[in-house]
Amino acid sequence: MSDCLFCKIIAGDIPSDKVYEDDDVYAFRDIHPKAPTHVLVIPKQHVATLSDCDDPALLGLLMNRVRTIADDVLNLAAGYRIVINVRAGGGQEVFHLHVHILGGKKLPF
Ligand code: IMP
Repeated sequence: MSDCLFCKIIAGDIPSDKVYEDDDVYAFRDIHPKAPTHVLVIPKQHVATLSDCDDPALLGLLMNRVRTIADDVLNLAAGYRIVINVRAGGGQEVFHLHVHILGGKKLPF
């Protein structure tokens, strides 16, 4: 989508601190990290928000990549938290589906 910030990051039109990329997903460090490690994992296919996505294959793939990135790329062996904000009322600010991976310290409940 031409006016989507994260689509522009995937396309390379806006710079990002990439940690992982394959045919289906792109992962990069959050510009305002809320933890020592804070990475966003996004599908390359534009989906505005989780509730718009009735595609078990895409959502399964996204979750599978999240665990691979957290464990094998970011080495968060001690543990991590994933967050998906859904729509404005859920705190979503960028309307391209993304999973936050937060780790690198003991996270408060
Ligand atoms: P949301 O509130 O779940 O939509 O999260 C959007 C996230 O995108 C926030 O944590 C922002 O800090 C992050 N963000 C916004 N613009 C950029 C950028 O250009 N690069 C990396 N992260 C960004």
